[in-house]
Amino acid sequence: MKIPNFLGGEWRTPSGVELLPVRDPASGEALAEVPMSRASDVDDAVRAAQRAFPEWRATPAVERARVLFRLKALLDEHKDELARLLTREHGKNVAETRGEIQRGIENVEHACGVPSLMMGETLEDVARGIDCEAIRQPLGVFGVITPYNFPVMIPLWFWPYAVATGNTVVLKPSEQDPLTHQKVVELASRAGLPPGVLNVVHGGREVVEAITDHPAIVGVSFVGSSEVARIVYARAGAAGKRVQALGGAKNHMIVLPDADPQVVQDAVVSSVFGSAGQRCLAGSVVVGVGEAYEPMRERLLTGAAALRMGHGLEDGVDMGPVISARHRERVIDFIDQGEREGASVLMDGRGVQVQDYPDGHWIGPTVLEGVRPDMTVGQEEIFGPVMGLTRVESLEDALTLLEGSRYGNATSLFTTSGRAAREFRYRAGISMIGINIGVAAPMAFFPFGGSKGSFFGDLKAQGKDGIEFFTDRRVVISRW
Ligand code: NAD
Repeated sequence: MKIPNFLGGEWRTPSGVELLPVRDPASGEALAEVPMSRASDVDDAVRAAQRAFPEWRATPAVERARVLFRLKALLDEHKDELARLLTREHGKNVAETRGEIQRGIENVEHACGVPSLMMGETLEDVARGIDCEAIRQPLGVFGVITPYNFPVMIPLWFWPYAVATGNTVVLKPSEQDPLTHQKVVELASRAGLPPGVLNVVHGGREVVEAITDHPAIVGVSFVGSSEVARIVYARAGAAGKRVQALGGAKNHMIVLPDADPQVVQDAVVSSVFGSAGQRCLAGSVVVGVGEAYEPMRERLLTGAAALRMGHGLEDGVDMGPVISARHRERVIDFIDQGEREGASVLMDGRGVQVQDYPDGHWIGPTVLEGVRPDMTVGQEEIFGPVMGLTRVESLEDALTLLEGSRYGNATSLFTTSGRAAREFRYRAGISMIGINIGVAAPMAFFPFGGSKGSFFGDLKAQGKDGIEFFTDRRVVISRW
């Protein structure tokens, strides 16, 4: 099956372009082919979006919200089918894909509140007989570019807010797993989203550059690696657009001696190995403070050893494969390099195979001890099922580690001390903080995004920031 683009309400397969296979990463089964569309396809999509804008903008906010209410109901109805398809193209287990879809639905729910969320402010008599009002208006066509690791949820961090506020959108999903979101687009159409309001162009770098450069696109939302986020931020910014670009991460999890050991074991193991480590909020380096270190290491090894690998559609599977053979090689290179740089491999997932799935991109849970900040595995994002362990002597030392990290996405502290928790949140300098929580994922009504090398821009995804990003606050001063 060739995956079509969605332009002006019609499914269209671009001809004469390269096609890449979309495969089940556990079985290797070919599921579909995705077109590497051209800049001219982006141009067609932008024209469709421009044509749809005036009528959609004039549609009252309550009516735009009603389309999203219907979409929410359809997503609920199809949740299971979407989760199973997502497991097939991504590899994570069905509990994880259900969770992802639920998080996506919550963004649709939040965007349904647009009549209130989009309200402005007024003040009478800013001078005698003169009134002032600040209103929010949509801006036009937005570009949305998303990564492979949450291919349903991440597009829903953006486009529901963009269309709720009256804009139109050109979306470029990840070319690695674009199938399930196609169904979401189909459901949005069934919910009554008019032709041209949401357009989808599949592809890679050429499509991204056409979006960042297109003179009729007013803003770009991007999520992916920091390397590409930085490029997109610079390039779209230079073209005069507003940009929010969310990048990669290297998340530290700090364990104090007074932490509850069972909470640490459950939260850290699932943070590091959930989704085979392919989450921007995944724990990467676990930092045991003082005497916390040794018992913590034993428990984490026990927790990691109990994980069952397999096809995510099978019952009882904790961990699926990573997305591709290329990504598997990359993760294994990191483990090799960690070993060369002096880390001890306490648990080695490099040779793991899963019965009945010889073509799967498997890497078993891997634990490296003695990970220092000057090592590649102590600094770089690995994005696989690899836990680094390190010991420091105090909370102060742990904070110094965070300060030295190039990334600022997420961090967690495990403690039963309110005072330590307060000190930590005050000083960590990281944007998403978990206290006795392994995956500090803000819900739809809160901002999602990092700082330092994890985020380029100022307004984040979701929450009030979403409304702010997709609208301009315009001020009217009146005398009658
Ligand atoms: P990626 O950067 O390879 O790709 C992201 C998007 O950019 C895709 O649509 C891709 O087609 C496009 N792209 C890739 N290379 C490009 C290039 N050279 N020029 C222009 N466009 C290009 O990221 P990925 O591997 O799909 O996703 C994983 C990354 O995303 C990880 O670094 C992860 O931390 C990050 N991520 C961050 C968050 C967050 O909230 N900060 C959330 C999810 C994922």
